[in-house]
Amino acid sequence: MPKYDVIIVGAGITGLASAYHIKRENPDLSVCLVEKEKTYAQGNTGRSAAGFRDTFTSEINHMLSSSSIEFYKHVQNELGFELGMDSCGYLFLLDGKNAVSSSIEKIMKRAKGRMLSENDIEKIGINLKPDRNVASIMNLPDIEGAFLGENCGIIEPDLICSFYDSELRKMEVEMKYGTEVKKINLTPVTKLDYPGEPFLWQEKTIGNLETNSGEISADAYVICTDVWTTDLLSPIGIDSHIRPKKRQIFQASGKEISSMVGKRVDGSEGTCPFMILPSNGIYLRPEPKSKSFWISTADELGRPYSYENDPQPEKEFYEMGMLPVAQEYLPQLKNSKVTSSWAGHYAYNTIDKTHYIFRAINTIVATGTSGSGIMKGDSAGRIVSSLLNGKETTTTYTGGKINVEDLGIKHRKVEIEELVI
Ligand SMILES: Cc1cc2nc3c(=O)[nH]c(=O)nc-3n(C[C@H](O)[C@H](O)[C@H](O)COP(=O)(O)OP(=O)(O)OC[C@H]3O[C@@H](n4cnc5c(N)ncnc54)[C@H](O)[C@@H]3O)c2cc1C
Repeated sequence: MPKYDVIIVGAGITGLASAYHIKRENPDLSVCLVEKEKTYAQGNTGRSAAGFRDTFTSEINHMLSSSSIEFYKHVQNELGFELGMDSCGYLFLLDGKNAVSSSIEKIMKRAKGRMLSENDIEKIGINLKPDRNVASIMNLPDIEGAFLGENCGIIEPDLICSFYDSELRKMEVEMKYGTEVKKINLTPVTKLDYPGEPFLWQEKTIGNLETNSGEISADAYVICTDVWTTDLLSPIGIDSHIRPKKRQIFQASGKEISSMVGKRVDGSEGTCPFMILPSNGIYLRPEPKSKSFWISTADELGRPYSYENDPQPEKEFYEMGMLPVAQEYLPQLKNSKVTSSWAGHYAYNTIDKTHYIFRAINTIVATGTSGSGIMKGDSAGRIVSSLLNGKETTTTYTGGKINVEDLGIKHRKVEIEELVI
């Protein structure tokens, strides 16, 4: 049975960043990364809206995201590895109530950005006042202001994953793609070699992983399997603390959309901001290559917490739910066509909407990314590595200090995040 010092399961952004920082900090360890798909970023990392922002209400999420964003900028600008990063901004379109809400106040305190006037918003091509009849039926508020987050934008997650993958290969991490962990086996710390071990009274540890290509084992394991974590850990009695929630994206294309996507807030040529409407968390993510919008929402009530094996986008949900709202604010959508669509899941921490990174026997679990795992991926990887190395604090890329236990279960200390998109 192949034996390593550390096995990481999952080659999404969390697993790759974790493997990278573990190996970077411990070059002598033998590290193996196991992924069931044929390559990286085939889970939720590859299905995301691929936006990044430092506009969070909680201090911890601001730290995790702003430092990861800086690291990705460093990779793209200084190391010359293209990540498709475009700091086009996040435009939070606000109704009267939200414009003066405590959430916006908290964001403005930490994140780099500015308020836009109604005039500035209209110049982008946004309609401030939906049709009165439609507005009253569909509860659509007028837009009375907007906050433009400036350290925010879009990125290509498969390129970030490609960066980590290529670095891991250089560092001689063994990459086992197409290898699915079917079962985690517990073993007694002190073996008696008696049939039926481990017994209730024996101290236990994870002994090996059963995969589709045989058993592998390590001294320590890191589980970065997002919504699949529950299936993997529940059988051995470790709680993942997350719930899966389906999320869908619809790509809308058209002539008027194309011209809107190609302009920055100031009207110059570039990419328009990622826009969040003041109704039901509906957002429009610009896609500069195809000059289209990816439209989605983090809907809550009415959407079950459940996992679908092959999640499919629901046409009716878009046509009867998102589109009628979005086109009231962006009339450009009235003549648009859906040119692509897909769906994935959020691995939700339903309590405080922030990562869980904790140790359970000889394994570290990193999950609960709650819809923002890419923009916080690098920092999450650093925390995993610190936890593995027995350190109490992690230093982020920008030098911030995070107490690793703060993101754990027993001594968790994070504020509730108010802004899940
Ligand atoms: C529609 C949508 C929009 C989103 N928008 C954004 C956004 O704009 N910005 C942002 O930052 N985040 C966004 N997210 C969230 C983001 O995609 C996730 O937080 C992030 O991708 C989680 O990364 P991960 O590595 O933890 O999980 P994943 O990328 O899902 O990786 C887990 C990996 O584990 C592998 N795996 C699972 N089980 C096993 C097993 N038994 N054996 C071997 N391998 C296994 C899977 O194949 C997968 O590759 C969005 C998500 C969705 C669904």
